[in-house]
Amino acid sequence: MSKVKKFKYLSIQTSNEVVEVPIYNASSRGESFPLHKTLVSNFCRNNCKYCAFRKERRIRREEIAPEELAKISYYLWRKGVIKGVFYSSSIRDPEEDSERVVRTAEYLRALGYSGYIHLKLMPGCSKDVIRRACKVADRAGFNVESSPGFFEDLCPDIDLKRDILKRFKWMREEMKKSERMKSGMDTQFVLGANEETDYEVASFTEMLYKKFGLRRIYYSPFKPVKDTPLENNPPCSKTREIRMYQLSFLLRDYGMSLRDLDICFDERGFLKNGDPKRIYFEEFKDDILVDLKEASIKDLMRLPGIGMKRARKIIEWRRRREIRDWRDFSKASGLSDEWRRILEPHLVFDERQTRIPEWVR
Ligand code: SF4
Repeated sequence: MSKVKKFKYLSIQTSNEVVEVPIYNASSRGESFPLHKTLVSNFCRNNCKYCAFRKERRIRREEIAPEELAKISYYLWRKGVIKGVFYSSSIRDPEEDSERVVRTAEYLRALGYSGYIHLKLMPGCSKDVIRRACKVADRAGFNVESSPGFFEDLCPDIDLKRDILKRFKWMREEMKKSERMKSGMDTQFVLGANEETDYEVASFTEMLYKKFGLRRIYYSPFKPVKDTPLENNPPCSKTREIRMYQLSFLLRDYGMSLRDLDICFDERGFLKNGDPKRIYFEEFKDDILVDLKEASIKDLMRLPGIGMKRARKIIEWRRRREIRDWRDFSKASGLSDEWRRILEPHLVFDERQTRIPEWVR
């Protein structure tokens, strides 16, 4: 099977030169969602250990004027090449670079753009620039890169608590006042760049969801970059990335806590090799019984094979008709008979069956 490339590059003629434009092939709810994803500048004063743009690395440094970038994005959007933009920057000055990111988005809106805008701001920027970002973007955030205790070594020039977590609090306040920022705040970890365990990442992930109200957490698998202090470290595996996302969604969408999910980690603090939801189900299945007459979306989602979309489908069906037996459930959920043996013992279809069976007691 051929691998879908995440980035492609388009050549665009501007008023005085030809520029290469990076288009990122994101997906949203199973649909392709191409983004114009770029840095406004790659000049950086910092030396994060894994980063290709760190100050001590000799690379070509470039920046683009906000108006020019906005015009390119607008052109791509009008042509139907992109559905959204993602602007970020390296850090020469946190305030100035964040302001450039926000100003680009403001220009873009002023041109009449009504697509999706995702902004990444720089740790240490002002409340004012955060306020402006919340007025113009659909989603915004800062990258945490790593959990406390590991961050300091990985990003020695940034203070996690002061420059990032404090800014998330400000952003949360500003977001509440915003009509626009409905997709909430996000962040990104660099996964596997150091000795940090999955449990440590998960623990910080849970805190970011619960305490700071983040909507989305991305896990970028570490890849060694030549001429960086981590150039000889092994890359992070795709499996680790997938397991981390699976766990993160259980924390965010399934109403589960990290304590519930202890069983999914091995004794070293890394996720066991298997879907964490399935591992949890296998461990606790004797206690799981879902009454289909009153089950909530979250109750349904605890069952294997049922995610948010399918759970909604079942609830929708239940509004119109009863779910009296497996056949109804199969129609309501779209799950085939292959699932019957796994799921049926955990479903309650009618009053008579709502009494807790002997085997559960
Ligand atoms: S601040 Fe950002 S761009 Fe600069 S070195 Fe760190 S991760 Fe790289």
